[in-house]
Amino acid sequence: MADIPKTVEQLRAHVKALTETIGERSVAVAANLKRAEQYIVSFYRNKGICVHTEPYSYGSLTVANVVAEIVFGLSPRKHFLIGAHYNSVAGTVGADDNASAIAVQLETARRLSLWKKEAFMDLAVTFVSFALEEPPVYGTRYMGSRVYAREAKKQKKKLDGMICLEMVGYSCDTPGCQDYPFPLMFLGYPKRGNFIGIVSNVRSRKFSRSILKAFKKNTSLPAVKLTVPFNGWILPAVRLSDHASFWDCGFKAVMLTDSAFYRNPHYHLPSDTQDTLDYVFMAELVKSLEIFFNNEGK
Ligand SMILES: [Zn+2]
Repeated sequence: MADIPKTVEQLRAHVKALTETIGERSVAVAANLKRAEQYIVSFYRNKGICVHTEPYSYGSLTVANVVAEIVFGLSPRKHFLIGAHYNSVAGTVGADDNASAIAVQLETARRLSLWKKEAFMDLAVTFVSFALEEPPVYGTRYMGSRVYAREAKKQKKKLDGMICLEMVGYSCDTPGCQDYPFPLMFLGYPKRGNFIGIVSNVRSRKFSRSILKAFKKNTSLPAVKLTVPFNGWILPAVRLSDHASFWDCGFKAVMLTDSAFYRNPHYHLPSDTQDTLDYVFMAELVKSLEIFFNNEGK
């Protein structure tokens, strides 16, 4: 199923394009936000994957969520969404946050599009790249994911689960390099940062269990699940991304993450650059996602 070397090469190219060719993708450099949007749109077009943009206003700017879709079967039974924000914090090129996630999103789409012809599947996967997530937009109604989730709720869209990719490119392997929010550090979670975290709320427990079950089949990438009550309001660190917008609109959603500042010392700093990422770790995540979709589509 997976071709790890080819996937590594693709992931590197995406991260390089977003962080080096384009660079900072914040509201302070709006032209680069537009370039990132165009990069994502052209990628899907070139692969023959259906794509459109959903523009909206933020102050004097017009930004856009990019929406692509791959459908298997004539009237798919299951609908999933993979989301990731493509902007970066001002003053940073955002390799882990969040070029890593866009790279995994695009590569997962490419992989799925390859199975399309021969697969007898029954599944629809929507890929949404959100325009804005970082401050000063974070927590406001202008977050790309809030704009999208609000509209999806209004239209009563069928969605069996949303997978948010938030910082998925950093690993560390020395004992103690992985930290946890209080009070989780006492609960016996792994001390090395070589796993992908699956963060879920109570409503999404079953969905996150099916993700974990699939991910366990990929023995090259350990997965660790964390379920938080009250949509995560008691542990604010677990709300720090686009999945929370879907939780708040009543959808099932999980966040897949390297755990951000609990692992990556470059979080929100100019040193969050492409050379700090672990591309094999990211490629293994693409493989795990393929296993999940393959399970669900059968
Ligand atoms: Zn982020």
